[in-house]
Amino acid sequence: MTPLEAEIRATIATKGPMSVAEYMELCLTHPEHGYYMTRDPFGARGDFVTAPEVSQMFGELIGLWAAAVWQLMPPRDAINLVELGPGRGTLMADMLRAASVVPGFHAAIRVHLVETSPILRQHQEQVLSGCGVPVHWHDDVMDLPWAPLIIIANEFFDAVPVHQAVKVAGGWHQRRVALDGDHLVFALHPELMWRLDEALPPGMRAAPIGAVFEWRRDWLMRYVGRLAAWHGTALAIDYGHVESGIGDTLQAVSRHGFADPLEAPGEADLTAHVDFQALREAAAGEGARVYGPLTQGEFLHRLGIEERARKLKAGAATKQAEEIDAALARLTAAGPTGMGELFKVMAFAHPRLATLPGFEAEAMQWAG
Ligand code: SAH
Repeated sequence: MTPLEAEIRATIATKGPMSVAEYMELCLTHPEHGYYMTRDPFGARGDFVTAPEVSQMFGELIGLWAAAVWQLMPPRDAINLVELGPGRGTLMADMLRAASVVPGFHAAIRVHLVETSPILRQHQEQVLSGCGVPVHWHDDVMDLPWAPLIIIANEFFDAVPVHQAVKVAGGWHQRRVALDGDHLVFALHPELMWRLDEALPPGMRAAPIGAVFEWRRDWLMRYVGRLAAWHGTALAIDYGHVESGIGDTLQAVSRHGFADPLEAPGEADLTAHVDFQALREAAAGEGARVYGPLTQGEFLHRLGIEERARKLKAGAATKQAEEIDAALARLTAAGPTGMGELFKVMAFAHPRLATLPGFEAEAMQWAG
């Protein structure tokens, strides 16, 4: 039994079953035993690989995108470049290196990293130590400055805890984590979530028995939306669905394979698909102009990833060139082996900011 499981069992024994969101939050960010607090989960020997860890091309293109957005914003002395959940710091390092070719950008930026994990902060400090721009760390998005900013969030929202409800014959019940003898099990709250049916998007009201509906606390999405709407831009990249829908997407990943979310709490990464409709509505509700979502493959294509791959391959040895091609396919391909279709890209911006790079085709459609 993991130390966190012992603690969760004791809590359930005294206070009763807990919501899936509370369970997920403990598993990821419990101060002592949370998954992100105790380890570096990335890389070939870790539990999973994210886009910036697949290839430098990802961060480089996002860095040039951020510099292009900066050029659209009113001229100012300083701009805050923010990353939510920066992992190993790879994305920010690649962004800064690539964007250093844009005159004045480095001199203007202050980097702000929102990171809960002390171990990953150490990594970020090392990776960014020689980057030549000031870097500040924050525990929480609420500590970010209310000032001009460009926010980047790659695989951040999927780690925000989700609630779940299950439909049974009489209606919807909240799903909870309970104790059955020696095991943690999913159970239903005895009380009906009466009238949830009417509150759901219309397409979901006729959901069949057994259907699972997921939702996140929306204050974080709204907060990020408001920062963007008032002060600049936010770019969210994550895996998820374009429209709100039915489905249990809570998943545990450990050593590059799927695991049971209730087994070994604190030892596996827990995530759930991002509901881009909920994200869009939260940000739009705060006054942001919303762009996308586009698939990651399409977004990277529009930013010129094939051209970047060609440049990197020129002069590279055969083996390296093969690795670049493999990384390009991993980042952009559809289907189960690629991240190109499952991952989506959505941006929010101040409503009077000119059309963001990469989203011009959509803006033309609106105008037409
Ligand atoms: N963006 C990185 C890492 C994604 S993993 C990449 O693409 O490689 C999720 C990241 O979010 C980790 O850095 C994790 O420590 C951080 N994180 C998770 N929950 C958080 C929270 N509530 N507040 C701040 N950071 C959080």
